[in-house]
Amino acid sequence: MVKMFVGDKEVKGMKGGWTLVQEFLPVGAIVIKDPEPGRPCWEEYFVDLLHTMSKRATCSRGSNACLITNQDNDILSFGYVGSPHGQPHCDTDGHVILRIRNLDTGEEREHCIRTIHAEQNAIALAAKRGVALKDSILYTLLEPCYYCAKLIVQCGVIKVISKFPYKEGNLTRELFDKSSIVWKVIEMKKSY
Ligand SMILES: [Zn+2]
Ligand SMILES: [Zn+2]
Repeated sequence: MVKMFVGDKEVKGMKGGWTLVQEFLPVGAIVIKDPEPGRPCWEEYFVDLLHTMSKRATCSRGSNACLITNQDNDILSFGYVGSPHGQPHCDTDGHVILRIRNLDTGEEREHCIRTIHAEQNAIALAAKRGVALKDSILYTLLEPCYYCAKLIVQCGVIKVISKFPYKEGNLTRELFDKSSIVWKVIEMKKSY
């Protein structure tokens, strides 16, 4: 339910969603969105869906899931971590590990490269179905890696909501800031 106020006086008789309200509200009006009793807000709802979707992921090193909505909260696309169609899964055939070294610091990290990341799968599904992602909102359990972040910028996403932070998330956040993408990590303390 959306309540509209001018000062402390409630404006009644207006119907429609957020966009409609924004268009017709008098200048200076304050909009308060009440969570409806007994119903999760959209963010909670989408994060719950992500937990269910992630059960289909096939790489135990990061069972992430992602979904993309428009600003009316319609789901445009979704994806989870998995191999390309018809290819072996990590969970049955083992990971394919790539070790990379930072030439500046000498630090080495190992990444499984068998799978397509959840965000990449969601973007690929949108491309397959001919769905534009311009001005969309992306929800993900795990904050995007830098590779996914670049794709997210490039396909026109304007907001990214992650449940958990990624331990190497600094590059992603810096890129999002520079690209004017609004980002939020819901549970910043827990890290992967
Ligand atoms: Zn793997
Ligand atoms: Zn990624």
